[in-house]
Amino acid sequence: MLPDIKDFSFKELEAAMAELGEPGFRAGQIFAWIYQGGVRSFEACTDLSMTLRMKLKERYALGFPELIRRLQSSDLTEKFLFKLADGHSIECVLIPSGARKTLCLSTQVGCKFGCAFCASGRGGFKRNLKASEILGQVLFLRDRLNMSLTNFVFMGMGEPLDNFENTGRAILIMNSPEGLGIAARRMTVSTAGVVPGIEWLRDLGLQVNLSFSLHAVRDELRSKLVPLNRKYPLERVIKACQDYGRTSGRRLTLEYVLIQNVNDGPADADGLARIAARLKAKINLIPYSPVCGLDFEPPSKSRVDRFLKLLDERGARVTLRQSKGLDIQAACGQLAGSRGAGAAESK
Ligand code: SAH
Repeated sequence: MLPDIKDFSFKELEAAMAELGEPGFRAGQIFAWIYQGGVRSFEACTDLSMTLRMKLKERYALGFPELIRRLQSSDLTEKFLFKLADGHSIECVLIPSGARKTLCLSTQVGCKFGCAFCASGRGGFKRNLKASEILGQVLFLRDRLNMSLTNFVFMGMGEPLDNFENTGRAILIMNSPEGLGIAARRMTVSTAGVVPGIEWLRDLGLQVNLSFSLHAVRDELRSKLVPLNRKYPLERVIKACQDYGRTSGRRLTLEYVLIQNVNDGPADADGLARIAARLKAKINLIPYSPVCGLDFEPPSKSRVDRFLKLLDERGARVTLRQSKGLDIQAACGQLAGSRGAGAAESK
Protein backbone atom coordinates (compact mmCIF):
# COMPACT_ATOMS: atom_id res chain seq x y z
CA MET A 1 0.00 0.00 0.00
CA LEU A 2 1.25 3.49 -0.84
CA PRO A 3 1.93 5.84 2.07
CA ASP A 4 -0.87 8.35 2.58
CA ILE A 5 0.28 11.88 1.88
CA LYS A 6 -1.65 13.11 4.95
CA ASP A 7 0.81 11.22 7.14
CA PHE A 8 3.49 13.72 6.13
CA SER A 9 4.18 16.84 8.13
CA PHE A 10 4.79 19.99 6.13
CA LYS A 11 8.54 19.72 6.61
CA GLU A 12 8.57 16.05 5.60
CA LEU A 13 6.63 16.82 2.46
CA GLU A 14 9.03 19.63 1.62
CA ALA A 15 11.89 17.12 1.92
CA ALA A 16 10.01 14.58 -0.21
CA MET A 17 9.42 17.22 -2.92
CA ALA A 18 13.10 18.18 -2.86
CA GLU A 19 13.93 14.52 -3.49
CA LEU A 20 11.67 14.59 -6.52
CA GLY A 21 13.59 17.64 -7.72
CA GLU A 22 10.64 19.95 -7.13
CA PRO A 23 10.93 23.45 -5.67
CA GLY A 24 10.18 23.96 -1.96
CA PHE A 25 6.87 25.76 -2.53
CA ARG A 26 5.26 22.60 -3.96
CA ALA A 27 4.64 21.30 -0.43
CA GLY A 28 2.71 24.51 0.31
CA GLN A 29 0.60 24.06 -2.81
CA ILE A 30 -0.17 20.43 -2.00
CA PHE A 31 -1.02 21.21 1.64
CA ALA A 32 -3.31 24.02 0.47
CA TRP A 33 -5.16 21.71 -1.92
CA ILE A 34 -5.65 19.03 0.71
CA TYR A 35 -6.25 21.02 3.88
CA GLN A 36 -7.82 24.21 2.55
CA GLY A 37 -9.20 23.08 -0.79
CA GLY A 38 -10.46 19.71 0.40
CA VAL A 39 -9.50 17.85 -2.78
CA ARG A 40 -10.06 14.12 -2.98
CA SER A 41 -7.51 13.33 -5.67
CA PHE A 42 -4.22 14.60 -7.02
CA GLU A 43 -5.87 15.15 -10.42
CA ALA A 44 -7.86 17.96 -8.86
CA CYS A 45 -4.70 19.93 -7.91
CA THR A 46 -4.92 21.95 -11.10
CA ASP A 47 -2.00 24.33 -10.54
CA LEU A 48 0.44 21.41 -10.41
CA SER A 49 1.86 20.14 -13.68
CA MET A 50 0.37 16.95 -15.08
CA THR A 51 3.75 15.27 -14.62
CA LEU A 52 3.87 16.12 -10.93
CA ARG A 53 0.26 15.03 -10.43
CA MET A 54 1.18 11.68 -11.99
CA LYS A 55 4.28 11.37 -9.83
CA LEU A 56 2.24 12.06 -6.70
CA LYS A 57 -0.35 9.50 -7.72
CA GLU A 58 2.34 6.87 -8.25
CA ARG A 59 3.94 7.52 -4.87
CA TYR A 60 1.17 8.48 -2.47
CA ALA A 61 -2.37 7.64 -1.53
CA LEU A 62 -4.92 10.30 -0.59
CA GLY A 63 -7.37 8.17 1.31
CA PHE A 64 -10.58 8.95 3.18
CA PRO A 65 -12.72 6.78 5.39
CA GLU A 66 -15.91 5.42 3.92
CA LEU A 67 -19.11 6.45 5.68
CA ILE A 68 -21.19 3.37 6.33
CA ARG A 69 -23.74 4.64 8.83
CA ARG A 70 -24.91 8.02 10.00
CA LEU A 71 -27.29 8.34 12.91
CA GLN A 72 -28.85 11.50 14.26
CA SER A 73 -30.14 11.67 17.79
CA SER A 74 -33.22 13.61 18.85
CA ASP A 75 -30.79 15.93 20.72
CA LEU A 76 -29.00 16.62 17.39
CA THR A 77 -25.86 14.67 18.33
CA GLU A 78 -24.78 12.78 15.24
CA LYS A 79 -22.75 9.64 15.06
CA PHE A 80 -20.75 8.50 12.06
CA LEU A 81 -19.53 4.98 11.55
CA PHE A 82 -16.63 4.79 9.12
CA LYS A 83 -14.93 1.91 7.39
CA LEU A 84 -11.16 2.15 6.97
CA ALA A 85 -9.14 0.86 4.03
CA ASP A 86 -8.42 -2.45 5.83
CA GLY A 87 -12.09 -2.99 6.69
CA HIS A 88 -11.93 -2.02 10.37
CA SER A 89 -14.60 0.35 11.58
CA ILE A 90 -14.32 3.44 13.76
CA GLU A 91 -16.76 6.05 14.83
CA CYS A 92 -16.83 9.73 15.45
CA VAL A 93 -19.47 11.91 17.02
CA LEU A 94 -20.57 15.45 16.27
CA ILE A 95 -21.95 17.32 19.25
CA PRO A 96 -23.59 20.65 18.43
CA SER A 97 -24.18 23.09 21.25
CA GLY A 98 -25.24 26.56 20.17
CA ALA A 99 -22.62 27.98 17.85
CA ARG A 100 -20.12 25.36 18.98
CA LYS A 101 -19.79 22.20 16.90
CA THR A 102 -17.54 19.70 18.62
CA LEU A 103 -16.16 16.69 16.81
CA CYS A 104 -15.18 13.71 18.94
CA LEU A 105 -12.40 11.81 17.18
CA SER A 106 -11.20 8.21 17.42
CA THR A 107 -7.48 7.50 17.66
CA GLN A 108 -7.40 3.69 17.76
CA VAL A 109 -9.47 0.75 16.55
CA GLY A 110 -10.59 -0.71 19.85
CA CYS A 111 -8.65 0.03 23.03
CA LYS A 112 -6.11 -1.79 25.23
CA PHE A 113 -7.20 -0.46 28.56
CA GLY A 114 -10.52 -2.15 29.26
CA CYS A 115 -12.15 0.44 31.54
CA ALA A 116 -14.94 -1.45 33.31
CA PHE A 117 -17.78 0.79 32.10
CA CYS A 118 -16.64 1.50 28.54
CA ALA A 119 -17.74 -0.23 25.35
CA SER A 120 -14.57 0.54 23.37
CA GLY A 121 -12.26 -1.86 25.17
CA ARG A 122 -14.66 -4.79 25.14
CA GLY A 123 -13.58 -6.16 21.79
CA GLY A 124 -9.92 -5.64 22.64
CA PHE A 125 -7.37 -3.62 20.74
CA LYS A 126 -6.96 -3.90 17.00
CA ARG A 127 -4.55 -1.19 15.91
CA ASN A 128 -3.50 2.43 16.10
CA LEU A 129 -5.00 4.87 13.65
CA LYS A 130 -2.54 6.63 11.40
CA ALA A 131 -2.45 10.42 11.44
CA SER A 132 -4.04 10.36 7.98
CA GLU A 133 -6.97 8.36 9.38
CA ILE A 134 -7.44 10.79 12.27
CA LEU A 135 -7.29 13.74 9.86
CA GLY A 136 -9.56 11.84 7.45
CA GLN A 137 -12.39 12.00 10.01
CA VAL A 138 -12.09 15.80 10.20
CA LEU A 139 -11.77 16.30 6.44
CA PHE A 140 -14.67 13.97 5.67
CA LEU A 141 -17.08 15.90 7.87
CA ARG A 142 -15.83 19.30 6.82
CA ASP A 143 -15.55 18.70 3.09
CA ARG A 144 -17.94 15.91 2.16
CA LEU A 145 -20.67 16.79 4.60
CA ASN A 146 -20.00 20.53 4.51
CA MET A 147 -19.93 20.96 8.26
CA SER A 148 -18.36 23.88 10.01
CA LEU A 149 -16.53 22.41 12.98
CA THR A 150 -15.30 24.57 15.86
CA ASN A 151 -13.87 22.21 18.51
CA PHE A 152 -12.10 18.88 18.47
CA VAL A 153 -11.91 16.36 21.27
CA PHE A 154 -9.75 13.24 21.14
CA MET A 155 -12.30 11.32 23.14
CA GLY A 156 -13.70 8.74 20.77
CA MET A 157 -12.53 5.14 20.46
CA GLY A 158 -9.11 4.42 21.88
CA GLU A 159 -6.55 6.13 24.07
CA PRO A 160 -4.94 9.08 22.24
CA LEU A 161 -1.86 9.06 24.45
CA ASP A 162 -1.27 5.37 23.77
CA ASN A 163 -0.90 6.35 20.11
CA PHE A 164 0.91 9.56 20.68
CA GLU A 165 3.10 9.50 17.66
CA ASN A 166 0.16 9.55 15.26
CA THR A 167 -2.17 11.61 17.45
CA GLY A 168 0.57 14.22 17.88
CA ARG A 169 1.26 14.24 14.17
CA ALA A 170 -2.45 14.82 13.49
CA ILE A 171 -2.60 17.57 16.13
CA LEU A 172 0.41 19.34 14.61
CA ILE A 173 -1.08 19.21 11.09
CA MET A 174 -4.48 20.36 12.43
CA ASN A 175 -2.77 23.24 14.23
CA SER A 176 -0.24 24.32 11.59
CA PRO A 177 -1.04 27.34 9.41
CA GLU A 178 -0.16 25.30 6.30
CA GLY A 179 -2.56 22.58 7.48
CA LEU A 180 -5.98 23.16 9.00
CA GLY A 181 -4.97 26.21 11.07
CA ILE A 182 -7.05 25.16 14.08
CA ALA A 183 -6.08 26.86 17.35
CA ALA A 184 -4.64 24.41 19.87
CA ARG A 185 -7.06 25.80 22.47
CA ARG A 186 -9.90 24.36 20.44
CA MET A 187 -8.49 20.85 20.82
CA THR A 188 -8.77 18.59 23.86
CA VAL A 189 -6.94 15.35 24.49
CA SER A 190 -8.65 13.00 26.90
CA THR A 191 -6.61 10.35 28.70
CA ALA A 192 -7.21 7.51 31.11
CA GLY A 193 -3.85 8.49 32.67
CA VAL A 194 -0.96 7.49 30.42
CA VAL A 195 1.80 9.38 32.25
CA PRO A 196 4.51 9.26 29.54
CA GLY A 197 1.87 10.45 27.05
CA ILE A 198 1.00 13.46 29.24
CA GLU A 199 4.70 14.32 29.34
CA TRP A 200 4.93 13.99 25.62
CA LEU A 201 1.92 16.25 25.11
CA ARG A 202 3.60 18.79 27.37
CA ASP A 203 6.75 18.61 25.25
CA LEU A 204 4.72 19.26 22.10
CA GLY A 205 4.52 22.79 23.50
CA LEU A 206 1.02 23.61 22.26
CA GLN A 207 -1.86 24.96 24.29
CA VAL A 208 -3.96 21.85 23.79
CA ASN A 209 -6.48 21.21 26.59
CA LEU A 210 -6.00 18.10 28.69
CA SER A 211 -8.85 16.11 30.16
CA PHE A 212 -8.13 13.40 32.68
CA SER A 213 -10.67 10.56 32.97
CA LEU A 214 -10.55 10.20 36.73
CA HIS A 215 -13.73 8.22 37.57
CA ALA A 216 -12.55 7.25 41.09
CA VAL A 217 -10.63 9.05 43.81
CA ARG A 218 -9.07 6.07 45.59
CA ASP A 219 -6.49 3.80 43.97
CA GLU A 220 -8.31 0.65 45.02
CA LEU A 221 -11.55 1.55 43.27
CA ARG A 222 -9.83 3.28 40.37
CA SER A 223 -7.76 0.18 39.63
CA LYS A 224 -11.02 -1.75 39.26
CA LEU A 225 -12.71 0.80 37.02
CA VAL A 226 -9.61 1.86 35.08
CA PRO A 227 -7.09 -1.04 35.16
CA LEU A 228 -4.38 1.27 33.79
CA ASN A 229 -4.32 2.75 37.30
CA ARG A 230 -2.25 -0.23 38.43
CA LYS A 231 0.52 0.94 36.16
CA TYR A 232 0.09 4.67 36.73
CA PRO A 233 -1.54 5.21 40.12
CA LEU A 234 -3.47 8.35 40.95
CA GLU A 235 -0.69 10.35 42.56
CA ARG A 236 1.60 9.90 39.56
CA VAL A 237 -1.09 10.98 37.10
CA ILE A 238 -2.07 13.94 39.28
CA LYS A 239 1.58 15.09 39.35
CA ALA A 240 1.84 14.76 35.56
CA CYS A 241 -1.41 16.73 35.15
CA GLN A 242 -0.17 19.45 37.53
CA ASP A 243 2.97 19.71 35.50
CA TYR A 244 0.97 19.86 32.27
CA GLY A 245 -1.24 22.63 33.65
CA ARG A 246 1.78 24.67 34.74
CA THR A 247 3.61 24.29 31.45
CA SER A 248 0.67 24.75 29.07
CA GLY A 249 -1.18 27.37 31.11
CA ARG A 250 -4.43 25.58 30.26
CA ARG A 251 -7.12 24.68 32.75
CA LEU A 252 -7.51 20.93 33.14
CA THR A 253 -10.74 19.01 33.09
CA LEU A 254 -11.54 15.96 35.17
CA GLU A 255 -14.00 13.56 33.60
CA TYR A 256 -15.99 11.57 36.09
CA VAL A 257 -18.49 8.95 34.95
CA LEU A 258 -21.00 8.71 37.78
CA ILE A 259 -22.15 5.15 38.42
CA GLN A 260 -24.91 4.32 40.89
CA ASN A 261 -23.59 2.90 44.18
CA VAL A 262 -20.06 2.60 42.80
CA ASN A 263 -18.47 6.05 42.89
CA ASP A 264 -21.35 8.38 43.75
CA GLY A 265 -21.12 8.61 47.56
CA PRO A 266 -20.25 11.59 49.80
CA ALA A 267 -16.62 10.45 50.30
CA ASP A 268 -16.24 10.26 46.52
CA ALA A 269 -17.57 13.79 46.08
CA ASP A 270 -15.24 15.00 48.80
CA GLY A 271 -12.18 13.32 47.23
CA LEU A 272 -13.13 14.60 43.78
CA ALA A 273 -13.44 18.18 45.02
CA ARG A 274 -10.01 17.89 46.69
CA ILE A 275 -8.28 16.61 43.57
CA ALA A 276 -10.01 19.30 41.47
CA ALA A 277 -8.79 21.97 43.90
CA ARG A 278 -5.22 20.65 43.76
CA LEU A 279 -5.29 20.68 39.96
CA LYS A 280 -7.37 23.87 39.66
CA ALA A 281 -9.47 21.72 37.35
CA LYS A 282 -13.07 21.91 36.33
CA ILE A 283 -15.12 18.76 36.66
CA ASN A 284 -17.19 17.21 33.92
CA LEU A 285 -19.67 14.87 35.52
CA ILE A 286 -21.09 12.26 33.16
CA PRO A 287 -23.91 9.98 34.26
CA TYR A 288 -22.99 6.46 33.19
CA SER A 289 -24.55 5.57 29.87
CA PRO A 290 -25.61 1.91 29.93
CA VAL A 291 -23.54 -0.49 27.87
CA CYS A 292 -25.19 -3.73 26.84
CA GLY A 293 -23.93 -6.67 28.90
CA LEU A 294 -22.55 -4.57 31.80
CA ASP A 295 -24.07 -4.63 35.27
CA PHE A 296 -23.57 -0.96 36.15
CA GLU A 297 -26.51 1.36 36.56
CA PRO A 298 -26.82 5.04 35.78
CA PRO A 299 -27.25 7.12 38.93
CA SER A 300 -30.77 8.19 39.88
CA LYS A 301 -31.57 11.87 39.56
CA SER A 302 -31.58 12.29 43.33
CA ARG A 303 -28.07 10.80 43.62
CA VAL A 304 -26.77 13.02 40.83
CA ASP A 305 -28.31 16.05 42.56
CA ARG A 306 -26.78 15.08 45.89
CA PHE A 307 -23.35 14.58 44.32
CA LEU A 308 -23.59 17.94 42.53
CA LYS A 309 -24.65 19.66 45.77
CA LEU A 310 -21.71 18.15 47.68
CA LEU A 311 -19.28 19.31 45.00
CA ASP A 312 -20.85 22.73 44.94
CA GLU A 313 -20.54 23.06 48.73
CA ARG A 314 -16.84 22.32 48.37
CA GLY A 315 -16.43 25.11 45.86
CA ALA A 316 -15.80 22.88 42.84
CA ARG A 317 -16.51 24.05 39.29
CA VAL A 318 -18.73 21.39 37.79
CA THR A 319 -20.67 20.84 34.62
CA LEU A 320 -23.07 17.97 34.27
CA ARG A 321 -22.79 16.46 30.83
CA GLN A 322 -26.30 15.51 29.90
CA SER A 323 -25.79 12.21 28.18
CA LYS A 324 -25.88 13.00 24.52
CA GLY A 325 -27.16 10.74 21.84
CA LEU A 326 -28.37 7.95 24.10
CA ASP A 327 -30.80 6.84 21.42
CA ILE A 328 -27.93 6.42 18.93
CA GLN A 329 -25.50 4.64 21.26
CA ALA A 330 -23.16 7.63 21.29
CA ALA A 331 -21.09 6.59 24.29
CA CYS A 332 -17.60 5.67 23.32
CA GLY A 333 -17.33 2.55 21.14
CA GLN A 334 -20.95 1.51 21.39
CA LEU A 335 -21.86 1.67 17.76
CA ALA A 336 -18.69 0.09 16.42
CA GLY A 337 -19.12 -2.42 19.28
CA SER A 338 -22.56 -3.37 18.06
CA ARG A 339 -20.96 -4.30 14.75
CA GLY A 340 -18.36 -6.52 16.40
CA ALA A 341 -16.08 -4.14 18.26
CA GLY A 342 -14.44 -2.58 15.27
CA ALA A 343 -13.77 -5.93 13.67
CA ALA A 344 -12.80 -6.08 10.06
CA GLU A 345 -15.79 -6.64 7.85
CA SER A 346 -15.76 -8.42 4.57
CA LYS A 347 -16.23 -6.05 1.69
N1 SAH B 1 -9.16 6.78 26.48
C1 SAH B 1 -9.52 8.16 26.65
C2 SAH B 1 -10.52 8.67 25.63
C3 SAH B 1 -11.69 7.79 25.28
S1 SAH B 1 -12.94 7.54 26.50
C4 SAH B 1 -10.01 8.40 28.06
O1 SAH B 1 -10.16 7.45 28.82
O2 SAH B 1 -10.20 9.56 28.42
C5 SAH B 1 -13.44 9.12 26.89
C6 SAH B 1 -14.62 9.23 27.78
O3 SAH B 1 -15.67 8.33 27.38
C7 SAH B 1 -14.45 8.88 29.23
O4 SAH B 1 -13.89 9.84 30.04
C8 SAH B 1 -15.88 8.78 29.62
O5 SAH B 1 -16.31 10.09 29.88
C9 SAH B 1 -16.62 8.34 28.40
N2 SAH B 1 -17.29 7.06 28.55
C10 SAH B 1 -16.86 5.83 28.21
N3 SAH B 1 -17.80 4.91 28.49
C11 SAH B 1 -18.84 5.59 29.00
C12 SAH B 1 -20.13 5.18 29.47
N4 SAH B 1 -20.52 3.92 29.44
N5 SAH B 1 -20.95 6.14 29.96
C13 SAH B 1 -20.56 7.44 29.97
N6 SAH B 1 -19.39 7.87 29.52
C14 SAH B 1 -18.53 6.96 29.04
